[in-house]
Amino acid sequence: MTKAIPNILLIYTGGTIGMIKDPETGALRAFDFDNLLVRIPELKLLECNIETTSFDEPIDSSNMKPEYWVEIAEVIEEHYHAFDGFVVLHGSDTMSYTASALSFMLEHLAKPVVFTGSQLPIGDLRTDAKENLITSIQVTALQHYNKPVIKEVCLYFEYKLYRANRTTKINAEHFEAFASLNYPDLAESGVHLKVNHEYLFKPNARKELLVHKTLDSNIALVKLFPGISEALLRSIFSTEGLKGVVLETYGAGNCSTEDWFVALLKDTIIKGVHIVNVTQCSGGSVMMGQYETSEKLKRIGLISGKDITTEAAICKLMYLLGQNVSPNLFKTIYQTALRGELT
Ligand code: ASP
Repeated sequence: MTKAIPNILLIYTGGTIGMIKDPETGALRAFDFDNLLVRIPELKLLECNIETTSFDEPIDSSNMKPEYWVEIAEVIEEHYHAFDGFVVLHGSDTMSYTASALSFMLEHLAKPVVFTGSQLPIGDLRTDAKENLITSIQVTALQHYNKPVIKEVCLYFEYKLYRANRTTKINAEHFEAFASLNYPDLAESGVHLKVNHEYLFKPNARKELLVHKTLDSNIALVKLFPGISEALLRSIFSTEGLKGVVLETYGAGNCSTEDWFVALLKDTIIKGVHIVNVTQCSGGSVMMGQYETSEKLKRIGLISGKDITTEAAICKLMYLLGQNVSPNLFKTIYQTALRGELT
């Protein structure tokens, strides 16, 4: 079999990787994508055909929103058959959210979609952008018998390839900005590019890509803290149109056993609002019922987020609400791993 040269589409959405310093204010802002390729002539040395496309107006990822997630999904959908893989350049601040959302939106994905970015702009002398971009392209181009090795949405940063919906941004300064505390790395870049094949997602090869574009953002993220007031929670839970809440609890999914608190959660669930229990800890899992302080939550019908990240929990909630899943099935489907996002 002759080895085919992979075709890779590079999608630039914005982020530090392509930013320059404004000479007047000194603040970083996105610049024209064409300049990005001029700055990395090494890309021509890679054994693949690279084409590029860019957001009309690249953004700092702090301005990211579901409409842009749909835009990225549509670019992938439009070019899905013409390319063997996709590299998405994205700001690191909300990269885990976008990449998690895309993992749900792209059902039966059978090609790599690798998100990357950098902590320093590509033009900076000490930049981490070149390694991140070059290795992301190499990972995306990996093939076995002319078929992609990676068949899921990933995030590559500082020598590691992660399952995207397992990642969290953990550091605003270190080059090692991301972690995947509840799932092993998919690949590591050292002298060799070592792929951990046993951890890769294996999609159903017989199904065609299905792109879901309806996301419902009528949700809230509530992080508990000792002393959180009843009035505050009441006002959040009675927000007009609210359909779901990701509740960040303590440890293995524990929270206050005070009557008003449990009654408020119970009434909210009875009203039809889905409440997902995720832990504030960076690693580990919710285990409702392990302590008395979570036993009641189980009884009143909270959904267990198990070991999902908050980022993936938010995106899964928006995705499933957009799917109009029947209320009876919602909890079971939420607690099922759809794209390898929970154990
Ligand atoms: N603020 C930037 C962004 O998320 C940070 C980065 O790219 O790393 O767009």
